[in-house]
Amino acid sequence: MGGTFDPIHHGHLVAASEAAATFDLDEVVFVPTGRPTFKLDQEVTFSEHRYLMTVVATASNPRFTVSRVDIDRAGVTFTVDTLRDLKAARPDADFFFITGADAIEQILTWKDAEELFSMAQFVAVTRPGHALSVDGLPGDRVHVLEIPALAISSTDVRARAQAGQPVWYLVPDGVVQYIAKHRLYRGLS
Ligand code: ATP
Ligand code: MG
Repeated sequence: MGGTFDPIHHGHLVAASEAAATFDLDEVVFVPTGRPTFKLDQEVTFSEHRYLMTVVATASNPRFTVSRVDIDRAGVTFTVDTLRDLKAARPDADFFFITGADAIEQILTWKDAEELFSMAQFVAVTRPGHALSVDGLPGDRVHVLEIPALAISSTDVRARAQAGQPVWYLVPDGVVQYIAKHRLYRGLS
């Protein structure tokens, strides 16, 4: 599962858990992006913080792991590079790329889109506020998965942290504490 994870929240974790159960996945690898292609115009928190919050959030689940492939690769992150690196490390694995409704609609514009569908199947989880259209995507490689609606976004969590409002129960407890300890999201304008 790829994401900016700035910060990781319970919407991400429920999506991963539901996809794992539905597709009988042995492992869900969370991959925090390096420089996200679609967010080049905005500031993103230092990747090491995003990586560590993802580690904290997933630590208690034996099937959840976190990969550094994107944050350790220089330059802008492209999903095709993410999949190439993960496949090199696990040559015999079958890959499912888990992503949200807003991201899957852009997939045809992603770098090397054709190749992507040969490298992995795609699981598009429904997301509150985003009507899902998979027109034009190969039906046998893209699966739509309805998950319990959690109207949580990282944007909202950041705004709350900045305003001094609680973020308890939107993100895992350890992430609440990590945000406070490192005073993240305080200086946003
Ligand atoms: P931001 O508001 O900063 O864009 P975000 O909440 O969208 O953050 P991302 O890290 O951008 O989080 O999301 C990673 C993936 O998780 C995306 O594919 C996104 O669609 C999906 N996702 C995020 N929040 C939810 C949610 N509440 N329910 C289902 N999917 C979600
Ligand atoms: Mg997003």
